[in-house]
Amino acid sequence: CGIVAIVGHTPVAPLIVDALKRLEYRGYDSAGVATIERGELGRRRAEGKLVNLERRLQDEPLAGTIGIGHTRWATHGVPNETNAHPHFSNGVAIVHNGIIENFAELRDELKKDGYEFASQTDTEVVAHLVSREVARGASPTEAAHRALKRLQGAFALAIMFKGDEDLIVGARNGPPLAVGHGEGEMFLGSDAIALAPFTNAITYLEDGDWAVVRRNEVAIYDIDGNKVERKRQQSLGTS
Ligand code: GLU
Repeated sequence: CGIVAIVGHTPVAPLIVDALKRLEYRGYDSAGVATIERGELGRRRAEGKLVNLERRLQDEPLAGTIGIGHTRWATHGVPNETNAHPHFSNGVAIVHNGIIENFAELRDELKKDGYEFASQTDTEVVAHLVSREVARGASPTEAAHRALKRLQGAFALAIMFKGDEDLIVGARNGPPLAVGHGEGEMFLGSDAIALAPFTNAITYLEDGDWAVVRRNEVAIYDIDGNKVERKRQQSLGTS
């Protein structure tokens, strides 16, 4: 399973799928990608191998220079297109590797609040938690931070907001997640190998970290919201 996200300057969907292929060795049962094009979220997902997602994208291409992609190894909900990531909630798009241990309690709370669930995944609670904070008036980054504080379990996450085409929030608590530094473009990936075609300048997030990733800047915070410094490394993995 794996995560790739790009805030770039050319159409990112094909780049994301290529990078996801470099994570195939981790195993997966379905895949998906979402981008923002002219202020709207678009998404293609497919059960099975990445070639199925590529066919979907050939038939119906996705434009957009910002996007998130995912290969899923199902833990909650069968491997099908509906359960494949990204998951959406009112303009918030999310991909997740891992398990949200307290998802049942969060789902009950969100259902009482009127949120409807489109999938059987544990992941979807995160999308609704973030969008509820946006609806309550939080900025996208503050909404992500507030939602992250509610989560128990293991996660690598990438979160995108349709109202901000220069922002992806990444978060790590367990499964690895790395920031890749480009020139006027930035990346998130499950490992340096996934990002090797784009950049060798890598910052690994530590457990509890979350990163605000924009084309020209990256800031990393701990779960209390304090800014933290993480070393930028030259990865040895080249393509
Ligand atoms: N628990 C999530 C799901 O079942 C993510 C699985 C994964 O790590 O790919 O959808």
